[in-house]
Amino acid sequence: MNEVVDYDEVGPEKIIQVYDPKTKLRGVVVIDNTALGPGKGGCRMTPTVNEEEVKGLARAMTWKNAMADLPFGGAKSGIFANSKEITKEEKKSIVEAFGRALRGIAPAIYISAPDMYMGEEEMRQMAEAHGDHKCCTGKPLDMNGLPHELGSTGFGVAQSAFVAIEHLGLNCDQITFTVDGFGNVGTFAAKFLTERGAKFIAASDSKGVIYNPNGLDYDKLMCVKGEMGSVVKYDDGEVLPGEKIAEIKTDLFIPAAKPDIIHEANKDKVDAKIICCGANIPMSARIEEEMHEKGVLVVPDFVANAGGVISSYIESIDGKEEEVFPMIEDKVVKNTKLMLERAKEKGISARQAAIEIAKERISGSKN
Ligand code: NAD
Repeated sequence: MNEVVDYDEVGPEKIIQVYDPKTKLRGVVVIDNTALGPGKGGCRMTPTVNEEEVKGLARAMTWKNAMADLPFGGAKSGIFANSKEITKEEKKSIVEAFGRALRGIAPAIYISAPDMYMGEEEMRQMAEAHGDHKCCTGKPLDMNGLPHELGSTGFGVAQSAFVAIEHLGLNCDQITFTVDGFGNVGTFAAKFLTERGAKFIAASDSKGVIYNPNGLDYDKLMCVKGEMGSVVKYDDGEVLPGEKIAEIKTDLFIPAAKPDIIHEANKDKVDAKIICCGANIPMSARIEEEMHEKGVLVVPDFVANAGGVISSYIESIDGKEEEVFPMIEDKVVKNTKLMLERAKEKGISARQAAIEIAKERISGSKN
């Protein structure tokens, strides 16, 4: 569930409706807060996207960018269209119209990026129609974009997990971990955890879960997923229904697929010491607090999955691929530690501590 954003001390500063009669583009840009820099956040194209949803997503970007200590505020945008029901040409015209509509605000107070049904080709179209390539990140390599295949977000998720593991006095080479969603974020997080010796015991995708308490072979699972389309085709483990991934006893659980994998009906069956959120909103903020009260350490999404936006920042300043991992490691490790130390000191959840830190940064206080 998205955060419900009321008009408060943070934002939203501007909500801009865009409409183009020729292409029938209808969209919305929400600039939540620009205290630290232009509002940064992706653009999604879905038939159901609405202003409330975009407001919630823009607020999440305000927290994420402030917590990553980037010179970006928070923003998000949405185009109301069903990309499955329009032709490629119609989609291109709509994206180009959106790019032109951003001329007054991007990159001064808004910088766009890919999100649902908006990938690097759409970023090319948006940037070319707009005229200033700085209006968005996530562009293709030939436009100096930084490729998704680098695995920036999964790398960052693993970095924040390392800090959480150490915070609990555990050793990476003695823990087990599970991953919901063996896609871009999930595979890279699993790769870096496996490299540090953690035992990978379960993974899921849209077809189900593969579970082996003695450990899955990461390279073999990657081949199976690549060649046969699903982790459930891996031959050395038990296949379970998809939602069971959240109930497997493990030291570390990494949600890296859809929202609300932990919900009212399964929240009491979760058996993990640490949940490090690669996916956005894998549980509501309220359930996250309940997990904290039960002694589960949850690293919130906007802290753990900041690797993607840190990579976008590097793209926005024309930085190079070699700078991506060192900067993600530096920022994610530092900020996860800061959050966990404050949470421990004050006896509050990691999420509450992170929001406190983000608010202080936005309001100009030191931390
Ligand atoms: P992806 O499409 O590469 O991978 C998603 C994976 O989830 C796929 O393996 C898919 O099979 C699996 N999946 C789909 N439905 C499922 C289900 N019902 N149960 C279990 N698995 C299911 O996507 P991604 O880029 O890895 O993103 C994953 C999550 O991380 C999303 O919530 C996304 O918003 C978030 N996120 C991604 C990035 C990024 O840079 N990619 C950045 C921040 C947050």
